[in-house]
Parts: sequence; C-alpha cells; structure tokens
Amino acid sequence: MTDTAAVDRHAYDLRIENHPVGDRVLGIGEPAPRLSWRLGGDAQEASQDGYEVELTRAGEATSVVVESSSQIYVPWPFAPLGSRDEVLLSVRTQHQGVWGRWSTPVTVETGLLHPDDWTVAFISPRDLGAAGMPAPILTGGLQLDELPDVARAYVTAHGVYQLRLNGALVSDELSPGWTSYSRRLRYQTYDVTSALRLGDNTFEILLGDGWFRGRLGWDGGRAIYGDTLGVILQVELRAADGRTVIWGTDDSWAAFESQVTQHDHYDGEHWDFRRARLGLEGRVEVRTLDLGSLVAPDGPPVRVVELLPATRIWRSPSGRTLVDFGQNLVGRVRVSARGLRPGATVVVRHAEVLEAGDLCTRPLRTAQATNVFRLGDINPDVLEPSLTFQGFRYAEISGHDELRLEDVEAAVLSSDLDRTGWFESSNPLLNQFHENVYWGMRGNFLDVPTDCPQRDERLGWTGDIQVFAPTAQFLADSTGFLVSWLKDLAVDQNADGSVPFVIPDVLGMTSPVGAAWGDAAVLVPYTLYQRSGDIEVLQRQLPSMRAWVDLVASRASSSGAWLGGLQFGDWLDPDAPPDDPGRAKTPHDVVSTAYLVRSADTLARVLTILRNEPSAEHYRGIAARARSGFVHEFVTASGRILGDSATGYSLALELDLVPAELRQAAADRLADIVRCSDFRITTGFVGTPVIADALSSNGYEELALRLLLQTECPSWLYSVTMGATTVWERWDSLLPDGSVNPGGMTSFNHYALGAVADWMHRRLAGLAPAAPGYARISVRPILTPLLDHASARHVTPYGLAAVGWSRDGDVVTVTVEVPPGTTADLNVPGCERTTVGPGTHVLQVDPPADATRRPSTIRELMDQMPSWTAVVAIATATGLARDGRDVARCMAHMLDSPAAAVADGILKGVPMPGEADLRSRLSELLA
Ligand code: BGC
Repeated sequence: MTDTAAVDRHAYDLRIENHPVGDRVLGIGEPAPRLSWRLGGDAQEASQDGYEVELTRAGEATSVVVESSSQIYVPWPFAPLGSRDEVLLSVRTQHQGVWGRWSTPVTVETGLLHPDDWTVAFISPRDLGAAGMPAPILTGGLQLDELPDVARAYVTAHGVYQLRLNGALVSDELSPGWTSYSRRLRYQTYDVTSALRLGDNTFEILLGDGWFRGRLGWDGGRAIYGDTLGVILQVELRAADGRTVIWGTDDSWAAFESQVTQHDHYDGEHWDFRRARLGLEGRVEVRTLDLGSLVAPDGPPVRVVELLPATRIWRSPSGRTLVDFGQNLVGRVRVSARGLRPGATVVVRHAEVLEAGDLCTRPLRTAQATNVFRLGDINPDVLEPSLTFQGFRYAEISGHDELRLEDVEAAVLSSDLDRTGWFESSNPLLNQFHENVYWGMRGNFLDVPTDCPQRDERLGWTGDIQVFAPTAQFLADSTGFLVSWLKDLAVDQNADGSVPFVIPDVLGMTSPVGAAWGDAAVLVPYTLYQRSGDIEVLQRQLPSMRAWVDLVASRASSSGAWLGGLQFGDWLDPDAPPDDPGRAKTPHDVVSTAYLVRSADTLARVLTILRNEPSAEHYRGIAARARSGFVHEFVTASGRILGDSATGYSLALELDLVPAELRQAAADRLADIVRCSDFRITTGFVGTPVIADALSSNGYEELALRLLLQTECPSWLYSVTMGATTVWERWDSLLPDGSVNPGGMTSFNHYALGAVADWMHRRLAGLAPAAPGYARISVRPILTPLLDHASARHVTPYGLAAVGWSRDGDVVTVTVEVPPGTTADLNVPGCERTTVGPGTHVLQVDPPADATRRPSTIRELMDQMPSWTAVVAIATATGLARDGRDVARCMAHMLDSPAAAVADGILKGVPMPGEADLRSRLSELLA
C-alpha cells in the first residue's frame, strides 16, 4: 500500500455483497462478491474518479485500479475465489487525482462452494429422537495432539441445532433458520479455532424440531419437511503450513436423550433437570442429504439482539405471579433458578395482553407458548428454553415463590440486522408509533418475514411483506435477509407461475393466485433494487416476476380487468366483520385489477433497467390493457369508482388508473371520504399503505396528516393510546373498552398496517430515494402546522442521509444532510427547487401565509382542524352526537352547503331536545 495522500478522503465500511458491515465476513457463498463502500473525510468536496481494490492472500498483495465513480455493488475485480479462500480486502478512492487512504481491511472467507467439498456424513439418531420424544443430543470426540492455525465448523441440520464445543456455545439461535429446505438448506460457518484444545475435544449438537418437524400452520400440521432430524458437521483444521484435516459427523458419533422432554415453536419447551444431561444412549445412522441443496446465508443469523429487564412484577387478582417487560417482543423469558429446590417445577406462560387482570392467551389460538422447568439436583443458574421462541409482553411464572423483579429478564430474538432508520417529531404518540413499527419488524424478521410471531401461525405471508418491504428497507439493513426470502419464493413458486400465499410454502395449495399477495414476487425485488441499488436482485428474480405476471395476465377478462378467483382483497378493512376479514367495502376485482397494472408496470420498468426494451414494451401493453379494463369495469364517467371506497380511489390515484381528466375528481372524492369518516381509517391491508401518498400527492397533504394524527379508533395512533408497543393486526385488536377483539385472528404484533411509516420517512420528514440506492435523494418535507418538527435519518448505502425541519416562531428551518457520492433534489415548500451536493444544507423558510379564513362551506369547516374539533365538541356536549364520526357522517351530503348549515346536518332536519343550545353555540363559534 503506497501513495497515501495527506488529504483525508477515504473509503470506509467496505462491504461484501449484502453481508453485514464488519471487519470479517465468514463463510460467504459468492465466489465473486460485489463490493461497496462509503466515502468519508473531505471526500464530499470532490467526487470519486476511481478506486483501487487490494487483495492480500497469504501475505501477498495484488491490486486493481478501476476508473469509475461507482461505489456500490462494484464488480469483483479479481479471479473468482474458491472454497475456503481467505483474503484480506481493502479499498481506496481517488478524488481529483489524489488518492485517499486505504479503508480498514476486511477479512473475507468463502464457505464450501461445491457439493463435493462436503466429505463427512449426514447423521440422524437411530433409536431415539423420534417426534414427541426428548430432543436428541449428538456427540462426537476429536483428539488433537497439535492445535491448528485455523479451525472452521460448517454445519446444518434438519430441524434446528445448537452446537457446543467443549461445553461452550458455538452456534447462533434457531440455526439453520427456515428456508425451502429440500431445495435450499443453509449451512453456517463458525470459527472454532480458539475453542479447541489439545487432547480431547467434545462436540455436542442438540437438535430440535424447529420449522422442519414442528408444528406449522393453524390446522395442526407438523413434520411438513420430514419426520427425522439430522445434522451434518464438517470441522476443518488448517495448519500454518497448509496441511488440512477434515473431521466431522460419521457413524462413530453417539446419540443421547437430552433434558428437553418436549419442545415446539408454538407450544414451548419442557426441561427436566432430574434427568441426566446426557440420558439414554443410542446410535446414529448415516443418511443421504442432497448436498446440492446446501447454500451459504445471504444475511445475518438470528441472535439475541437485546436483553430487557422486567419492569414490574405483581400478583394478579386470581393470585398468579405476573411479569411485565414493558414491551411486546419476540424471544425468551430468562428466570433465575436462585432459591429453587430439587423437585420444584417452574412454569412460564406468555401473552401479549392482559384481560381481567390475567394473561389473555386466546389470541395465541392453539399455541401453548408454555415453558416448563423441573428442577433436579444439578440445575443451570438461569432457566431458559433453547429451541423455541415466544411473542409476548407479559409472562406468568409459577412455582417460584420468592421471585423478585431482578430474577427475570427477556432475551429479544431477531435476525441480527443493523438498524438504519429513525424518525422523530414533536408528537410523542407518533414517535411511539414509529418505535412500535420498528419493534414489530424486529419480532417478525426472525429469519423469515412473518405475519405474526406468537400464535399458531408465524408464517411468511407474501402480502404482508409486499406492503411492508419499503419500511423495512428504511428501518434496518434488510437486503440480504429479503434476498434470501426471495430465493425461496422463486423455488417455491409453482410451475404455472402462481405464488404460494406463504413462503416458505407450507400450505401446499394448488395454484394459489392472490392479488397483492402473489405480487410480492414482483414488488419486493423492485423495492430492494430501489432502496439498496442491488440490480442483481432484479436479474435473479426476473423469471419469477415474469411467471407471475404472465399467469395473472392470462387470467384477465376480455376487458383487461382481473375478475374473480380466491382473493383476500383489502384484507382487514375496519368495517369488515371480525369473523370475516375479507368482506371489505372495496370489491376484490378493483384490488386485483389494480395490482395487475402495478406488477405489469413494475416488470416493464425492470426490463427497461435490464435493457430488454422489446419485453418491457410487451408488459407495458399488458398494463395498458388492464388500465383500460379498470376504467371500463369500475369507473363511471364522472370519476366514481365501484365500491366508492378510500382504498379504491387511493389505488386509482397511486397507480394512475383513471384518465387524466378524472384524476382530480377521484382525488376530491377520496378527500371527501376521509372527511366524512372523521379522518379515521377506512382502509385494510391494501389501501392503508397507499392512502397517505394518494392524498399528499394530489393536493391533500393536510388531510393525510389529519388521518395520521387521528387517535380515535380506527387509526394508526389509536393503538398507541391504548398502550401498544408494537403494531397490531387489526385496527381494534384491543377494543376501546379494553377488551380483546373477539375475532379468531387477533395479533398484537403484525407489521402490515405499520407500512405508513414509509410515508412518514419519505413525505412527512421528506427523505426519499430518487435513484436506486439513494444515489440521488429526494427531499420533499411537508411543513405542516400540525407539528412543530419532524425528521428522518437513514444510513443509505452511501452513508447517513438526514432531513429535518422545525418551526421556531415564524420561521421554519430545514436541515438536510447529503452523504458523499450522492446529490439531493430539494423541493421544499416556499423555496426554489434546487439540487445540492454532499454536505449539510440549512434552509430558512417563511411558512406559507396562514390559510385559515372564515370557512364558507362545511367542507372548508371540516378542513380547519380547530374549528371542526370545536363543532364535534359542541355536538357531543349537547348530546346530539355520540362522537366525531357521528357528526362527520351527517355531513356526507352537505359538504358544499354553507358552513352555517352544520347544525341542520347534525339535526338531520328532525327537531330534537338540545337543538336551541346546539344552534346558539354553533353560531357563536362560526360568528
Ligand atoms: C395472516 C395475515 C395474512 C392473511 C392472509 C392471516 O392469517 O396473519 O397477515 O396476510 O392471513 O389473508
């Protein structure tokens, strides 16, 4: 490494593919990984003219200089790596002819890239470890008379495994995670160099049912992938002189029954410490494993990402000991065994909410979520399960009479994704809501993006991640995580192009074709590309995207619209009955056709990006036909849309489904629906993620805010006022009277309805990508008088970007931080549009002149929040309306009437006691 310039312009955070940033990346599966880095120091003053990558192998360095301003996903500039290759990489960049200093080097090591790299056996316990029996532990001993320079353990299993070497835990949590096992089984690579010792070394592998053999789905299914657990462990010992010894699982290993007598993800785990740690002994048998299915991970594993202390311990009215962790979370309760005697039985039950002072477990449906620990003569210090996880905020702990607050904590489990996104505003409820969205993501990003983490479900529902992916991409470094899931989507997709409702597919339905759900095949990859800049995702998923759109296009009717089929539609419309969440106001066909347009359009865009114009044209044609089908089937000449629902208008506006001349009419109608529903939510899974954009992009920014800041049920903030710490599945998972929704599907940890956070980042705070990977940033905040400040920060692939605005008296200050290597288009109300380069930019804005004037119509009256709040207060105080919704509904046909007619609307033309009082108070207000 030579020529280091005095100028401080340097590359940092050298990143290998989508693996987490760090100084060592072990066991990667890419022989030619792409590289990315961020620019620091004075780099922002000069763009990058080129870069040099240095590769050091066994002390020998080579380097390649490339003239290019690219700094994300640059191609691997060397010969492809082989299996087990260990190299040291570093990069430096050149700015106006001057080289910056070298980045901190990163050690990169490939895993086992070819099936024949595996030379050990895949083994299963023979006479024990059957389903329903105690979990097996497989053990093998390795004698060493010389310590290796480097030792690696490559391991995977059917089931979940916990690997220990000489008693110390080596593995992460719930490994190997959950993929479509028969086609893609992940293996993990661990550095075990320092855990080895001279003489005897003992490897122990505890095997659990996990997703492989445990329960999956609500209909009692189990052992979906197979009924026999198994493991393959290959340990490689490399001496400094290059000698390598390979050792691992074979028929000499032994199997034992462990102290885990029962376990399941849904039902929990039972430990019996009265049994020997290694109990009944059996043999192992060698079985075949398709080594071609073994793949290295694309993202980080599940780990304990945080420890939360218990915040309260008390006795419930029924005499049970309850513990509150102050946060709905996913993970495990840890209980100290202090003071417990042999023979004691500690039982830990879990729930997300309380009802009548005790745990409310009904939402868990058939999931038992109960851990049991029977104590023996030798017990661990801490009682905690190993092979399961629970979703909970509260625990009930019995059998531990002297339990104190400090004896309990919660270990939070999640895929170990670095946080990259934050939001803050002057509204504490909104801030709490945003944290709830993040916690919901954490709990449900447990190796697979799941719908919920607690009941007898916990599945990778496609529709949920389809709407949430943009938010997820902002909040945490989730590209590798979702890349992996998309690979499973592609391998689980049916030959006819249909996409299973859940990925990995455990429902096994023939040809499921659900709009907004199956569209995940197209929309999730595109979101990843937009947010991360990873174009390979598009290339890799292209056949899957095409297969989906081709199938759906073939289902279109002669008009071009997509009609009929088994659809979820605008799932969980708040007006749907609790036991029929698909019965939405918006016709399913409206949703299906809108999504056909959306996916065909997106695919056309993807093909243009991939420089395949003829195919792009083909899909543009499909989108155009579906658009005209939409108009033909669902849109009246005046711009009304069948169903007359907020979801219908929002989709039409966001996806450009109505002719230009009807656009304003559709936007106006949407605004009126929002007004007449008292600024409460009327949309389900499909409408909720788009309604704020549909309003704010069509002249109704303030109404979008009114919707966002509403606290009455249903609304985003309602759950926050009810004490939620995660986003709920239903708008009213907890009813206003505090009771739990009677529907059979009531989760308190579902991320889908939190998808509005993406709008909070992009529009309210104003930080959005304008080019893939945020190479160009769009800054377009809404300087609303309803807040005093709002800001968002995001660690983009190029570095930290931030937009914040705050009001001080008459002046609003907007501060924008633009990372090196990018530019930002500033579109700030009251300022000239301009493009700026890297650095910090501060703008002073005179807020738009106060638009408040005497309302002439009822519509204008409703748009003025303080006046409207006062009207509602008067109507309810006089006993002539129950609440704001009551009052708003009365206005549905009078929006153009003079504001003074508001009293007539409330009275609906019927004389009522209290009328005089109402009239006089309203006319005083409007005087
Ligand atoms: C899940 C949803 C999912 C839906 C499909 C529910 O059971 O929890 O989030 O998308 O089914 O209709």
